[in-house]
Amino acid sequence: MTATLEAVDADFTAEVQAGTIEVAMPPTLAIDCRVDRLYYGDFLAVRDSHLPIEKGKITGFIGPSGCGKSTVLRSLNRMNDMIPSFRLEGYVHFLGSDIYARHVDPVVVRRYIGMVFQQPNPFSMSVFDNVAFGLRLNRYKGDIAGKVEQALRRAALWDEVKNKLKASGLSLSGGQQQRLCIARAIATDPPVLLMDEPCSALDPIATRRIEELMVELKASYTIAMVTHNMQQATRVADNTAFFSVDISQGGRTGYLVEMGETQQIFEAPREQLTKGYLRGEFS
Ligand code: ADP
Repeated sequence: MTATLEAVDADFTAEVQAGTIEVAMPPTLAIDCRVDRLYYGDFLAVRDSHLPIEKGKITGFIGPSGCGKSTVLRSLNRMNDMIPSFRLEGYVHFLGSDIYARHVDPVVVRRYIGMVFQQPNPFSMSVFDNVAFGLRLNRYKGDIAGKVEQALRRAALWDEVKNKLKASGLSLSGGQQQRLCIARAIATDPPVLLMDEPCSALDPIATRRIEELMVELKASYTIAMVTHNMQQATRVADNTAFFSVDISQGGRTGYLVEMGETQQIFEAPREQLTKGYLRGEFS
């Protein structure tokens, strides 16, 4: 069972369609995002950034702190809608719709574009219930126990928790908790996963496990990930987007400097800014 975009295309279109204007997207892309201007209130946080997210690949977002990596990532499934001052000028195209079109329900969007956060955040309930949570929310009618097992296996956690499914998710180690959150995110088969520094709270061994898992998952998912760890980007990301910041309108405004295959960005960057950043000239 996979979560390919083709498999869910008709479902998503049916769910969001009412009155949506069909938008054209290159067939190789899972998400086509363009940020002309992104504001928090009057503050211009990100400008002029076009991010084509390729299907079946891992795209890494790198750059100095405050350049808008998380902000842009969270815009890809309307997670920023929770912030009243947030405003996007631009678009995020997904399966032929602009997810910011007026009648598109962000809750539906987040069912198709899942998210894993920086700090593992299991709910205060059993391991089983954590993974079953989204299935129950979506009133899944099939075999919930089977889906929970499948998600835990795909998240490489099953063997470690199969005898303690009733234990609290909070009783697991940090690395296990993050894999539990990944299992929870993939249980409902979203074809795209957003990961915001998923390893920053983990030790090197747990980090390595999550990285291996991401590489396995990309066979069925498209992944976009923020990382502050350059080695991690080179280990797992197929494509890398490098962001930087400049001073405009009295604040620090982030923008995409360049994006390309990870090897090209790290070995032959086109822009001086990228070269400088990779040499550690600013962080
Ligand atoms: P990065 O992930 O690259 O470190 P962020 O996306 O977290 O950057 O932040 C980009 C800019 O937007 C920063 O200047 C940050 O202070 C600002 N910012 C982030 N979240 C909010 C928010 N909820 N309200 C106001 N400003 C925010």
